[in-house]
Amino acid sequence: MRDISCKVLVIGAGPGGYVCAIRAGQLGLDTVIVDGAPLGGTCLNVGCIPSKALIHAADEFHRLEEAAAGSTPFGLSASAPKIDFDKTIAWKDGIVERLNMGVGGLLKKAGVKSIRGWAKFVDGKTVEVATDTGTQTIRAESVVIATGSEPVELPDLAFGDRVMSSTGALALNEVPGSVAVVGGGYIGLELGTAFAKLGSRVTVVEAADHVLPQYDAELVRPVLARLEELGVTVLTGAKAGGVDKKGLKIDHGGEAKSVAADKVLVTVGRRPKTEGYGLEELDLDRSGRFIRIDDRCRTSMRGVYAIGDVSGEPMLAHRAMAQGEMVAEILAGERRSWDKVAIPAICFTDPEIVTVGLSPADAEAEGHKAISKLFPFQANGRAMTTAREDGFVRVVARADNHLLLGVQAVGAHVSELAAGFALALEMGARLEDVAGTIHAHPTHGEAFHEAALRTLGHALHI
Ligand code: FAD
Ligand code: NAD
Repeated sequence: MRDISCKVLVIGAGPGGYVCAIRAGQLGLDTVIVDGAPLGGTCLNVGCIPSKALIHAADEFHRLEEAAAGSTPFGLSASAPKIDFDKTIAWKDGIVERLNMGVGGLLKKAGVKSIRGWAKFVDGKTVEVATDTGTQTIRAESVVIATGSEPVELPDLAFGDRVMSSTGALALNEVPGSVAVVGGGYIGLELGTAFAKLGSRVTVVEAADHVLPQYDAELVRPVLARLEELGVTVLTGAKAGGVDKKGLKIDHGGEAKSVAADKVLVTVGRRPKTEGYGLEELDLDRSGRFIRIDDRCRTSMRGVYAIGDVSGEPMLAHRAMAQGEMVAEILAGERRSWDKVAIPAICFTDPEIVTVGLSPADAEAEGHKAISKLFPFQANGRAMTTAREDGFVRVVARADNHLLLGVQAVGAHVSELAAGFALALEMGARLEDVAGTIHAHPTHGEAFHEAALRTLGHALHI
């Protein structure tokens, strides 16, 4: 096979890599992107997108079940709803396929050469790619490592048929009778909730003292209440052992127990993918398990960049994309550096959680004198009309000049508020700016307006 030379080589076509390649192509850089798996990475193939499809299908099914049980407050009724899970999975796979093709089309439109195969470093400017038709050598002026992350496996719970990672959980052909979820973080609670709504008996086994340890107790409380309503058992301070015929063996506060588990879903975190592709040849500096980067995503080797999950926390698709876009612009000669005020995070549980910027405790820990108030959805007209009044929007601002430091929300449908929250923080909004903005009625967004008003001491609707 003839060797290829290019200006930019991107390894990994997840949200970080493909966005970087598209932007580099748009800017006229001769760009090659390599991935051994279908385009779109974890996010598009086995992460964000398929999980949200499953969550949506589970929500719809559960709503029908509630109607069949006559438990909706607005008098809906239905008879014996059924789910054809093969069709659900086929629908989810169809979305993934459309997006795979979409990414391929976008890369092509930007003039990027896409190669299917696994890359291995020879040196900092050369990789060999194992393709179906042989080994392709690629030399590049700059290399962007965007190899993402992979699920952490526990020693007593090796992934197989019964013990699944999120990837296995998104590819089941039937709804399991019982699911033991090990790890009550993002994936465990998002997918655990979906399986509970689909009819599985779900038990969450969390090692820490509380689930979603990255969020404060006030934000998590409505999620815990809903999990209870859905019949999900949450065991904290619990350590999982292996599986036997009876189920998952656990140690719960020193007591040995067994948890019903047709399937065990292990979601105890993800680790950066730094092995198996010759990275050791480059001997890059590390920050823990991640590749160390600076504010331009430069690694310790000249001409080698790292973006996305392989480069640090938070391991979120939109961080990877923003880094990818920035690196492409830097490679095209633009003066760019990482200057984002905040990276929003959303947990797609029921209710959803959104956080942008600092929580009250973070603000205090960073030495700010902060003021903070929340506005409950119980006093929001839109929340009442959707029969979901649990949750709130909370704002955190500097006490002296009222500059917004953070916004958090928990509630049904709040994920779509993330854009407004993030924009306010990036624009350097003060409480008065949010209070002075007309928020359309009736919307959940009005709770943001009211939380700002309340922090200023003059809420109108509470
Ligand atoms: P990845 O998407 O992991 O892509 C890396 C790519 O590199 C892969 O395609 C891989 O095949 C390729 N690769 C690796 N090594 C090589 C090699 N040697 N040669 C060639 N190719 C290689 N994030 C959110 O923001 N929102 C969500 O709702 C969300 N939901 C999630 C749900 C689940 C179940 C999971 C697992 C993750 C979720 N995430 C979510 C996280 C999100 O998927 C990641 O943050 C994101 O995919 C990271 O993008 P990336 O480009 O860094 O890496
Ligand atoms: P996580 O870090 O969110 O949660 C892992 C949980 O497992 C934690 O609560 C931790 O205390 C617990 N844990 C660790 N070891 C354990 C053990 N031995 N036994 C029991 N519990 C244990 O990890 P995740 O849910 O696997 O997700 C990985 C990453 O993927 C997330 O951190 C996030 O970056 C990304 N993600 C994001 C979204 C989103 O944005 N909505 C959704 C899914 C995944």
